[in-house]
Amino acid sequence: MRTITNHLPTSELQALDAAHHVHPFTQNDALAKKGARIITRAKGVYLTDSEGETLIDGMAGLWCVNVGYGRKELADAAARQIEELPYYNTFFQTSHVPAIALAARIADLAPGDLNHVFFASSGSEANDTNIRLVRHYWALKGKPEKSVIISRKNGYHGSSMGSASLGGMTSMHEQGGLPIPGIVHIDQPHWYAEGGDMTPEEFGLQRARALEEKILELGADRVGAFIAEPVQGAGGVIIPPSTYWPEIQRIVDKYDILLIADEVITGFGRTGNWFGSQTFAIKPHIMTIAKGLSSGYQPIGGSVVCDEVAAVIATDEFNHGYTYSGHPVAAAVALENLRIIEEEGIVEHVRDVAHPYLAERWHALGDHPLVEDTQLVGLMGSLALVPVKGERAKFAAGAGTAGYITRERCFANNVVMRHVYDRMIISPPLVITPSEIDILIDRATVALDEAYKQLKDDGLLKKAQ
Ligand SMILES: *Cc1c(COP(=O)(O)O)cnc(C)c1O
Repeated sequence: MRTITNHLPTSELQALDAAHHVHPFTQNDALAKKGARIITRAKGVYLTDSEGETLIDGMAGLWCVNVGYGRKELADAAARQIEELPYYNTFFQTSHVPAIALAARIADLAPGDLNHVFFASSGSEANDTNIRLVRHYWALKGKPEKSVIISRKNGYHGSSMGSASLGGMTSMHEQGGLPIPGIVHIDQPHWYAEGGDMTPEEFGLQRARALEEKILELGADRVGAFIAEPVQGAGGVIIPPSTYWPEIQRIVDKYDILLIADEVITGFGRTGNWFGSQTFAIKPHIMTIAKGLSSGYQPIGGSVVCDEVAAVIATDEFNHGYTYSGHPVAAAVALENLRIIEEEGIVEHVRDVAHPYLAERWHALGDHPLVEDTQLVGLMGSLALVPVKGERAKFAAGAGTAGYITRERCFANNVVMRHVYDRMIISPPLVITPSEIDILIDRATVALDEAYKQLKDDGLLKKAQ
């Protein structure tokens, strides 16, 4: 057995990676040819790779490193917990301090009467829990036929069988026989791409009313829940028109449908409040949490459930659980992470400092010849790449070509930004400072300039007919 350390040369690490490591959401043979970039260290908002290059992380890992990298307090919390109690389960009439303390803390922070937490190790698991929870809830209420869950096209809720079925990504449904039965998708409130001649406000109402139409089509007695992200993340950071959420709330209230807010990205400060539900004035019965709950330092997620749903579920044995539900080390780290967010005023930093400054610089990118439709809520943003401006035009080259080229230019300029087809998205660590925002946007601007030149040189600045 050889020991793999960071002392191996990059090329050897890449060769071993290509030979043995299957990457998620990746065409692995293409990556094997190119070689993965190997990240070795991180501090604050910066990543260091195996060649000693420093990148600024405009994505907070995968939308999760809210407090930034290299927090010794979190390392200490993990070490302490591993020494004291590295593992114990909560299945068989036992509990432990980290799970108890974290559940109580989350209940404290969560809006309304979302006072009960069922733990998982990821957002995908938590959404799988939600499917079973919702169906079990209605069954216990004597309405087992209220089992259909409505979700949205181009929503993202995870990658397991259940959660990917809730999601509305066709590229995911095409593989592995998804969606599972009893999940139905309606159209998304993506005005820029699908709003046609309507105003955003008209369109927001129309897309919300698609929920009502679907409920009436299926019969309200068959629909158990509606799940949605307050702001679609992986779908391209799509901020719904202002009319959307109030109308959704009216509809779920009217037809007695549970509302599940998937707060995996929008939770824990991302939108300038503790939860996106507060930013958009929504009253969910269940909230999915993960990612920023531990700032990604440990894998942990959960379903935060309102009093009424918890009370009904409590009357029967819920035949469901994960070995690592409420894992003590993950819970201890999450608790410490929440302490940091609160005591350092990170939510206020997002709202009063980082968002206003990033908004100024982000929206100014709209002057770039390749860019329009700059969107930002809190510290999650997106922009559209376009071949010509002012027409919401698409590229003739096919969706994602310009986005991929731009992403490559970002990477070459040591700034991590993702693309979703031809939208570029950012979601930096919440602790980012104005001077770091300058570095992020300056590098992104260089990348956009280079991408523009490359698209022009390659004859790709043509719009689809
Ligand atoms: C990332 C994500 C998930 C899935 O979380 P995992 O921890 O990757 O399983 C679910 N919902 C949303 C909104 C997400 O962004």
